[in-house]
Amino acid sequence: MEFKTSSCIRCGKERIKGIEKTFFAGSTKTKLTMYICPDKVCQEKVEASIAAKEERKLSFAKKRNPHPPKAKSK
Ligand SMILES: [Zn+2]
Repeated sequence: MEFKTSSCIRCGKERIKGIEKTFFAGSTKTKLTMYICPDKVCQEKVEASIAAKEERKLSFAKKRNPHPPKAKSK
């Protein structure tokens, strides 16, 4: 399956091919292509905002669920 090029969420420029990763999903060789913004500064900001979002999500999950789900007993 090919990944379609998408436009940058920040500046709307068409993304360019970035890092290509090859990994094995079971016995199938899969190639994952990351598309990045051609503007290096913009791409860094996009990555930073994604990281911040992930962090917020994590802290939210911690707040909402202070106990690990495994602690639930049936
Ligand atoms: Zn951009």
